[in-house]
Amino acid sequence: MSTCLFCKIIEKEIPSDFVAENEHVIVIKDIQPKAPIHYLIIPKIHVPTINDILDTHEHTIAIQAMWGMLRNLAKNLPEPQAFNLIVNNGAASGQRVFHMHWHFISGKNIYSSGIKL
Ligand code: AMP
Ligand code: ZN
Repeated sequence: MSTCLFCKIIEKEIPSDFVAENEHVIVIKDIQPKAPIHYLIIPKIHVPTINDILDTHEHTIAIQAMWGMLRNLAKNLPEPQAFNLIVNNGAASGQRVFHMHWHFISGKNIYSSGIKL
């Protein structure tokens, strides 16, 4: 049995608020949202960080599926369909859950108080 939090959520061993799911990806609501919309796009395969992504069919399919999910989420946003896509990669960048994921954030200007990229 996996000890990874997101693997447990994918396996439905831990409940979570699902926004979408297909064969390769889940989208859940972040448990501590930083904006009105704060979703996590998570591949079903366990890959700790971007650095662990391999040039294999399985990994390529997973990344493609994450992009597909991202486009669907973006398309379904209300006008002006603005969002931030954030990836914390590695502990020093602030990553806490070592199952790669993308933060999809909308409905708030996250730069209103703090760093501006
Ligand atoms: P990161 O710091 O990039 O690894 O992001 C991990 C994210 O997972 C944080 O924004 C947490 O709020 C979120 N999180 C932690 N536990 C859960 C959970 N059980 N369900 C949903 N989101 C979670
Ligand atoms: Zn995992």
